[in-house]
Amino acid sequence: MKKGISILGSTGSIGRQTLEVVSIFPSALTVVAMAAKDEVDLIVEQIKKFSPKLVSVESEAVKQKVEAKLGPSKVEIATGSEGLLRVATEPSAKLVVAAIPGSLSLLAVLEAVKAKKDIALATKEVLVTAGDLFMQEVKASGVKIFPIDSEHSAISQCLRGEDHKTIQKLIITASGGPFLKTPKEKFATLTAKDALAHPTWKMGPKITIDCATLMNKGFEVIEAHHLFELDYSKIEVVVHPQSVVHSFVEFVDGSIKAQLGAPDMRIPIQYALLQEVRMQNHWGRLSFAKASQFTFQPPDKEKFPCLQYAYDVGRVGGTLPAVLNSANEVAVKLFLQGKINFAEIPQQIKMALNQHQNKTQPLLGDILAAEKTAQTLAS
Ligand code: MG
Repeated sequence: MKKGISILGSTGSIGRQTLEVVSIFPSALTVVAMAAKDEVDLIVEQIKKFSPKLVSVESEAVKQKVEAKLGPSKVEIATGSEGLLRVATEPSAKLVVAAIPGSLSLLAVLEAVKAKKDIALATKEVLVTAGDLFMQEVKASGVKIFPIDSEHSAISQCLRGEDHKTIQKLIITASGGPFLKTPKEKFATLTAKDALAHPTWKMGPKITIDCATLMNKGFEVIEAHHLFELDYSKIEVVVHPQSVVHSFVEFVDGSIKAQLGAPDMRIPIQYALLQEVRMQNHWGRLSFAKASQFTFQPPDKEKFPCLQYAYDVGRVGGTLPAVLNSANEVAVKLFLQGKINFAEIPQQIKMALNQHQNKTQPLLGDILAAEKTAQTLAS
């Protein structure tokens, strides 16, 4: 039987690649609902190609444009946060792909879990901002989380058939971003254009900047802590500029497993959508005949302080990780708009963290309130 899929964020980088994967496994996967923002032409194209029952867009104005362009169609078009929730909980969906960047999708993903949907999780902010709460819901509902992040997909592949108690540590690889070799003194002169040239992965602008600051890696450390239920002392980061080894797991006997592959997000997306069943595809392959050298080095946490912030904030917990995420969202936005320079991103984040009164064991309302305050403070 075909598995029904809802996609939160169908026009983004992960959403588009998810649809590519769906289109090569038509007998296994079908899109039943999609949520997007305002890219009218692409939304119309996706509706025509995948015929979902339900589509949600940002606003009534976008809905009217989509309907005008689409012509007669059976699709139902909903709007706003209510529409997003409907897509997340669409009854015919078995799996929800969470791929809206930032914290916008937190509520929707939580509702999807409560509605007993398995989650293919690309939006790491869900685990960063509300990891404890989210994992509690996941356990209560008995649903499964399939990470789309390449590192976490790698770790879950390395852990297949292993006993959790035998994990010595996780070693998450980082590309190091475009400024790995740039001296720190130059950071104040770097612009969005410099940062958007990511060496190995093709991604959206927000996550590309997060890679350049290593904030993305910091988020992935917090994400791994929640997903794999391990203390921060058991999670390490290693810089591996070629992005071929997607992560390692070391076991208590000193044996280390790695997962490797071409740096192509469609591979972890496919693994998540097919729920860990391996099927033939035509994505890029890794060739050892062509690959020249793989290198590894420890990250420079002084040069890239955001990584250290994530460890510190993750260990403290409470509402602080939500502040880290929101302050980073704002700082990245200002950087992309050319309002602050690259060196000011961690400074802005640090300021917001210092000003925050942390609340331990927060409820969802506390987390959302902390996010809001951090957004005003940082802007
Ligand atoms: Mg990643």
